[in-house]
Amino acid sequence: MSEPDDLAGTGLPTRLPSGGKAMALHDGCPQPRPEWVPENAGGGFATWVMQGARLSGVVSAQNGPPRRRTLTTEDYVQGVLARDPPVLARAITLIESNAPAHQAQAQQVLAQLLPHTGRAHRIGITGIPGAGKSTFIEAFGCHLTGSGQRVAVLAIDPSSSVTGGSILADKVRMEKLGRERNAFIRPSPSGGSLGGVARKTREAILICEAAGYDVVIVETVGVGQNEVAVRSMVDFFLVLMIPGAGDEMQGIKKGVVELADAIVINKADGDNRARASAAQAEMRRVLHYLHRMTEGWETPALLASALTGEGVPEVWQMTEAYFANARAVGSLTGRRRTQAVQWMHALIAESLQSRFYASEDVKARLPALEAAVADGRMPVLAAALALLGG
Ligand code: GDP
Repeated sequence: MSEPDDLAGTGLPTRLPSGGKAMALHDGCPQPRPEWVPENAGGGFATWVMQGARLSGVVSAQNGPPRRRTLTTEDYVQGVLARDPPVLARAITLIESNAPAHQAQAQQVLAQLLPHTGRAHRIGITGIPGAGKSTFIEAFGCHLTGSGQRVAVLAIDPSSSVTGGSILADKVRMEKLGRERNAFIRPSPSGGSLGGVARKTREAILICEAAGYDVVIVETVGVGQNEVAVRSMVDFFLVLMIPGAGDEMQGIKKGVVELADAIVINKADGDNRARASAAQAEMRRVLHYLHRMTEGWETPALLASALTGEGVPEVWQMTEAYFANARAVGSLTGRRRTQAVQWMHALIAESLQSRFYASEDVKARLPALEAAVADGRMPVLAAALALLGG
């Protein structure tokens, strides 16, 4: 077979020293002309076109976008323990996957990582949209990384009719914190029910702990159910508020304040300062009458400005005081034990429900029974029992 005079129009000569054999252009990538040619080399000078080395690592250079090597369970475990951010991110992607094969592997990874979990401060932060959650977490997170701590931020934002989709992921958020070497930010898993997103976030907390993060922050939008889900997976729950016009509660219901271990009135700066102080005084009065979330801990109401950073170090001091107290009185371990058991029951309930609705018998009989119940032809309990007993 005759050789073309140059390789695929690159201008690279293919006439090689005697016995030489031209190699194919690596994966069709055009090669640049050599930058240096010996003086008086003449037309006989040839360049070897070397086959690129095949990478055995995570990324390999192939045609098109780089393809990632499939990681083994051992790769995930070792990568997370070695604090390798790309592997950490992929481990979280694995637990977020709904594919049964991925879920099985995710459980193996988690089981192996479990002995390395539990050491982080697990902090939940909520607030209505616009309360300044991103700005606050950025300031708070940078304060922590500035003092040598490693911080992971996870978000819970299930697509729902209430939030209308992913409020948290839409914005370019926490850019400064994202550039910090000791910070890891993970947006909310896309889509899914609150239960599904909550499970994935719980497991992501564990993986971040195994990757040596000292503080894991779970952020959520204050719209109702999300706060309860986050409360059930963190040690410390912080509700961010802003001084509002008149109604200082701004839609945050008493129930959410009762879940809090701390209230932070954000945006206490500029013209807002006086209103923020008034909101703080009112909040303190309210807290005085409410049930305390954590035994032996009086829920404080602090002022802060995420924008200027004022008050942010004090929020961390207060958080540390909370953890010191919780460790001393044993409430930290107690809460985690209770949370683990409740989580197990939640998973059992979820699994039973999905198996029930997946059953062929239930699928076949459900529409008729639903119609009978809707039309009032059959009592609801009788219909439910008919299905459950079937
Ligand atoms: P999120 O929806 O709760 O995450 O709120 P963002 O962090 O996106 O903040 C909403 C708006 O409030 C943005 O325009 C911020 O710049 C502003 N903001 C956040 N924190 C402060 C603060 O402490 N003071 C002032 N004046 N503005 C703030």
